[in-house]
Amino acid sequence: MSELNKEIKYLKGVGEARARLFKKLGVVTLRELLRYFPRDYEDRTVFKKIAELSDGESVTVRAVASDSPRLSRTPRGRELALLRVYDDTGMMDVRFFNQSYVKDAISAGETYLFYGKILRAGGAAQMTNPVFERDGGGNPVKIGRVTPIYRMTAGLNMRSVSNTVALALKLCGDALPDSLPRSVREEYGLAAARFAYENIHFPKDFESLKIARRRLIFEDLFVLSVTARRRRAERGSSSGQAVISEGFGEFYSALPFEPTAAQKRAVDEAARDLASGGVMARMLQGDVGSGKTLVAAALAWTVAKNGFQTAFMAPTELLAEQHFRTFEEFLSPLGVRVGRLTGSLGVKAKRLAREALVSGETDVIVGTHALLSEGVDFRALALVITDEQHRFGVSQRAALGQKGESPHVLVMSATPIPRTLALILYGDLDVSELNELPPGRKSVMTYSAGERLRRRIYDFARRLVSEGRQVYFVCPAVEEADVPGTGGEGIEARSPGAGDSELKRAREYAKQLQSEIFPELSVGLVHGSMKAREKDAAMASFISGETDILVATTVIEVGVDVPNAALIVIENADRFGLSQLHQLRGRVGRGEHQSYCVLMRGADGEKSRERLDILRGTNDGFEIAEADLRQRGPGDFFGSRQHGIPASRFIEQGAEAGTIWDARRAADTVLARDPGLKLRENRALREAVDAIFLASDGTFN
Ligand code: ADP
Ligand code: MG
Repeated sequence: MSELNKEIKYLKGVGEARARLFKKLGVVTLRELLRYFPRDYEDRTVFKKIAELSDGESVTVRAVASDSPRLSRTPRGRELALLRVYDDTGMMDVRFFNQSYVKDAISAGETYLFYGKILRAGGAAQMTNPVFERDGGGNPVKIGRVTPIYRMTAGLNMRSVSNTVALALKLCGDALPDSLPRSVREEYGLAAARFAYENIHFPKDFESLKIARRRLIFEDLFVLSVTARRRRAERGSSSGQAVISEGFGEFYSALPFEPTAAQKRAVDEAARDLASGGVMARMLQGDVGSGKTLVAAALAWTVAKNGFQTAFMAPTELLAEQHFRTFEEFLSPLGVRVGRLTGSLGVKAKRLAREALVSGETDVIVGTHALLSEGVDFRALALVITDEQHRFGVSQRAALGQKGESPHVLVMSATPIPRTLALILYGDLDVSELNELPPGRKSVMTYSAGERLRRRIYDFARRLVSEGRQVYFVCPAVEEADVPGTGGEGIEARSPGAGDSELKRAREYAKQLQSEIFPELSVGLVHGSMKAREKDAAMASFISGETDILVATTVIEVGVDVPNAALIVIENADRFGLSQLHQLRGRVGRGEHQSYCVLMRGADGEKSRERLDILRGTNDGFEIAEADLRQRGPGDFFGSRQHGIPASRFIEQGAEAGTIWDARRAADTVLARDPGLKLRENRALREAVDAIFLASDGTFN
């Protein structure tokens, strides 16, 4: 067994208890530990003189301790060690909380390096809980380097994580994860695995970090590319249920509107796959509001006419309920029997729904992942449709695929994926694109606003409501705060969950809007941790128009369709990715009313303005996705859920489109030379690809 698959609990200094904490971070084996990439780095290489220090910056100061630290207690009982230090330009105060050991670690008259954040409010500069070490003249150990910052969990501290990583690196020697064939590495000038892993964790400098990152990103993209290619090749040989269509006229003429040309084209493309005798694996891409649901319904209709069943899976209860209603509306008049299976149904209703599936009484079942549970069986499942497919884990989708005999698969994605990246992520799927919106849509007018305008925005919301419209207020979900460590290293103690105080928590916010701002209106609330039934009720009340204003977290991000909503106000907009904001914006402008999106800038107002301007500049999801890719890298598109490859964290900060193309080209070259990956130099690659296959049972992407 490879060293890499060993569990870290056997490492020196780890043990059962600590291993359990690591497990919370998703780290059990050495491989996982090595791939537990830092979420950020701290530049401890910048030195400054005391006189030059300015408020808020994080720097290293070389200074002499004027005496040894003085211990006292704060009124709240914390231990405080106070120290005064100086250099040839001035004095600085250093404070340590609950670190009384510094009393013995720092002696008067000696020179130290202190790294930390400067507080300077007028008078002397101050540092709280700095990292420090004696200035020994030689190479500094903790300071003067680029230092990794890991995502933490309570009970672990930064130092124990980085020590464990260092130990793992040493233990593994040259047996590091490496799926790049040598030829590829040479052709694209990529670093060796050893260099990459050492420098992603403990960069020699920022240049080395960049080189390490490029190599690791390239490797991931390359493996994904190869996987997608091979899947496609494999699928070419399997056969599926033949579903024959004789035109969609009957379906179209029953609709309340005329389908767009793009919708018809997508339907025809998929219908051809269904009739081909092979297995369809198609992705339907289309910007928010382009009408993907209709395409799904058309296919479900033709499948039902052939006597087969369709399963339609939505990522949330909210969406499942909404789609259920839409499908009923479209399909019931045509004699197609639509059922639903969601978590909010009672036990009996669930049982009935399941029975109707086995007996074949239900033609189309709409549901959430509840469709995946044991005991859900189909009489003749032929088509599986997943909406907003990027929200599902691979294994979930695979499980549904197994409920029939290689059913046809349609995945619908509203997150426009830049073409370059789509080729890698979905290289094994055929793609249909809805490149036009239904006619008569007015594009959403988008503004970004600072606090100053808040009153006016409330007034505007009130006016729209008085005209009969409805309004969303969106708050970011509360982020999982990085739990500070408890070790001696001061930096971990900084600002736990910085900015939490400004986060508009949905619940309080709804209360405040109701009681202080809009007492005469009806304010509703929907958020992720509500029970399914409560969510349904909140949504139903908004859909019916009973609620004027809906305060929501990102549970409404995808798919929710309430055409009467004409304004969406997004609080702390800078916390969202551009594509996500675009999705949220897509909640309005779905009907005939002129609609508006207001992006409230948070604290970093100026910095975020530029980014938000991209959204003001265009309503085109693809353009926005490209911009997101340029700014943040492809991490968002992967989501760590996507392929179980935890590289996304650092990919976010790094990859440019060039790397994506290169990785893809390299994949083609390697497969052209060695389609079965049988050559020796491709062995590790093959293992990596197989691992992804296994994780998804090779069913479909
Ligand atoms: P999405 O692609 O974002 O999932 P939906 O399928 O939810 O979009 O459709 C958005 C809205 O547009 C829905 O209210 C739907 O009824 C409506 N719609 C879909 N197709 C058309 C069309 N061809 N003409 C007019 N309205 C349409
Ligand atoms: Mg949708």
